[in-house]
Amino acid sequence: MGRPLIAGNWKMHGTTESALKLATQLSHYRSQENAVEMIVFPPLVHLAVVSVALNESTVRLGAQNVSQYSDGAYTGEVSADMLLDQGCKYVLVGHSERRAAMGESNQLVAEKFKVAQDAGLMPILCVGESLEQRQQDKTLEVVAKQIDAVIELAGLSQVVQAVIAYEPVWAIGTGETATPQQAQQVHRAIRAQLGDAGRSTTLLYGGSVNTSNAAELFSQPDIDGGLVGGASLEAEKFLNIAQLVEA
Ligand code: PEP
Repeated sequence: MGRPLIAGNWKMHGTTESALKLATQLSHYRSQENAVEMIVFPPLVHLAVVSVALNESTVRLGAQNVSQYSDGAYTGEVSADMLLDQGCKYVLVGHSERRAAMGESNQLVAEKFKVAQDAGLMPILCVGESLEQRQQDKTLEVVAKQIDAVIELAGLSQVVQAVIAYEPVWAIGTGETATPQQAQQVHRAIRAQLGDAGRSTTLLYGGSVNTSNAAELFSQPDIDGGLVGGASLEAEKFLNIAQLVEA
């Protein structure tokens, strides 16, 4: 088992006002015995205001993306150091929306992972198969390849210290969820791929997690928590889901 985590990906939603309101509502979150870490991933332009709102809180801040470059003439990009400067501790790398819509390859995701981790951010490496790949029975192969690309560049000893989120592409934002058994099968395979050193790596499930399906998903032996998109935009729903990580 890894450290229990609940992460909210706000994607490209909201205004400064709504981000501030949501962060303020979440800022009072305390898990029993502080066992569960809560992280929110606002849009880049809202990081500063959310950082201030979470200042006295145990809720951590993360970014949805990071440049593979450390510094320089890369218009529109944001570096790992800039994210640290805004108060981020975490960063998502390889979210399927970026892999699909922005053409991020396994190699690029690995580069972003390494740059982020070297700078002192904790990467959450997102992996997962498309519906077509699942139907062709290629799920485990696809996920293993996505992780292998990062192991090759960053090294296994670094990857096991990060967080990995299994997010089947067909379950993200669709209302469809992997069954707890389907999710557990992939999580078990990831844990096996990481070997002994990965026994305490945090493995999250993501893909239409909500208050009705979270309990059963989080009760699986190799699922340590969740990466939540849509349902993280409402404080009450997200706090209810967070409680289910502890249960
Ligand atoms: C996500 O954005 O990583 C995600 C899992 O979204 P949703 O919960 O909306 O499917």
